[in-house]
Amino acid sequence: MAAVTKSITPPKIRHTECFIDGKWLPAASGKTFPTINPATEEVIAEVAEGDAEDINLAVEAARRAFDSGPWSRMDARDRGRLLNRLADLIEEEIDELAALESLDNGKPIRDARTADLPLVIDCLRYYAGYADKIHGATIPVRGNYFTYTRREPVGVAGQIIPWNFPMLMVAWKWGPALAAGCTVVMKPAEQTPLTCLRMAALAQEAGFPDGVINVVPGFGPTAGAALVKHPQVDKIAFTGEHRTAQIIMREAADTLKRLTFELGGKSPNVILADADLDRAAEGAHFGLFFNQGQCCCAGSRVFVDERVHDEFVEKLKNLAQQRKLGHPLDPETEQGPQVDQAQFEKIMSYIQKGNEEGAKCVVGGKRFGDRGYYVEPTIFDEVSDSMSIAQDEIFGPVMSVLKFRDWDELIERANKTFYGLAAAVWTRDVAKAHDFAKRVRAGTIWVNCYDVFDAAAPFGGFKMSGQGRELGEEGLRAYTESKTVTINLDT
Ligand code: ADP
Repeated sequence: MAAVTKSITPPKIRHTECFIDGKWLPAASGKTFPTINPATEEVIAEVAEGDAEDINLAVEAARRAFDSGPWSRMDARDRGRLLNRLADLIEEEIDELAALESLDNGKPIRDARTADLPLVIDCLRYYAGYADKIHGATIPVRGNYFTYTRREPVGVAGQIIPWNFPMLMVAWKWGPALAAGCTVVMKPAEQTPLTCLRMAALAQEAGFPDGVINVVPGFGPTAGAALVKHPQVDKIAFTGEHRTAQIIMREAADTLKRLTFELGGKSPNVILADADLDRAAEGAHFGLFFNQGQCCCAGSRVFVDERVHDEFVEKLKNLAQQRKLGHPLDPETEQGPQVDQAQFEKIMSYIQKGNEEGAKCVVGGKRFGDRGYYVEPTIFDEVSDSMSIAQDEIFGPVMSVLKFRDWDELIERANKTFYGLAAAVWTRDVAKAHDFAKRVRAGTIWVNCYDVFDAAAPFGGFKMSGQGRELGEEGLRAYTESKTVTINLDT
């Protein structure tokens, strides 16, 4: 773990207020909350702390824009053009946006610049292309009737996102919603509101009419809950913890909102003895440590065939030792700090539990430096299925290595979690790969790769990892309602 330190000029903060009906407004209460730089623990800016009153204003604006504003009459192709224009503006500002994301979240600027931002732009363009390709079907019914279906926008979408990929989560939510013709009220995560607000400003510059996109920063139990309960909101799209989704589902019951959830995971990453072990080690390293381990699909349970176990763990250890930790805005940094103090403490407590429960810490296990929420890349070997580090989502740079011998038993163990977001297998045996893909209950299976995302490929969870899918055509359909129209053709 090498330290990288350089002095870096931070990006400009341009927006800190709520964006409602095309205007920048302080919170109705006048309250603000600080957003913190996780690399230095210093306040970056004070941001408007939205609550029920601000959410109500935003929902009313979104409702007007959906029901009677120019958006409701706009041709689908023009909606697509606006999304493309937004993608272009983001591309023009890519370096500044990457720096802002890195500052607020703590992720290395090179990840923001080469992973997050290109995926954001691609997602918006992908859905821009879909706007004028949403159509129903003609249905041959009994009798002299002409029956067809229309795919209509679901209405006002409330969107609640987490802090681990702030801009990408905006793109995953706005892209399909706006292509489908919905209007949106978004509540970004309280840890990382800045890039979402900048994207709202760019959307306005792109020409989205007032009220189509609204952003209300604030906290979950206040602003988030008000959005979930609001009777004029038709759908909630949420990404975050399964416990929060359970609260949202209960709160949304009164108004029977449409719900889509993308939640956590404890994804198995399985290394067979016949795999290319160098590539597999790199894949396992990347699959867990990318984004400081703060990925819902992180490959946090690494199952290794006992025949190659020792050799493989040695490779994992070497890679972890070479990882460069440092200031997120330094282009050489590979790992930045965790997003905040709470996450840092949670991760450190899991490291302690791992040690107490008898796992063997082969590398890392400590705080890195004395400033900022840095955690050393940590690998636990000799982990058993029942240990808390093998069961719970840690959401940090902590890898658990588990040994296996028998294939059927491995599949059973891989499935032994209430999560089902992703899974990967490394092998040259094509039959084994397909068997794994069929039998592991997860929404995404990667073979000889990890974290390969594409706007066209649906993503979401089995079991308690989610409900519905984002991305691809399925992601778009989640923002539509089907309407059946029947016309009597008797003359
Ligand atoms: P994380 O651990 O990633 O912060 P959360 O599920 O707590 O996961 O947060 C994800 C998003 O959900 C954030 O924007 C947060 O403010 C919001 N949130 C948290 N609690 C609630 C709630 N009770 N109702 C609505 N949104 C919430």
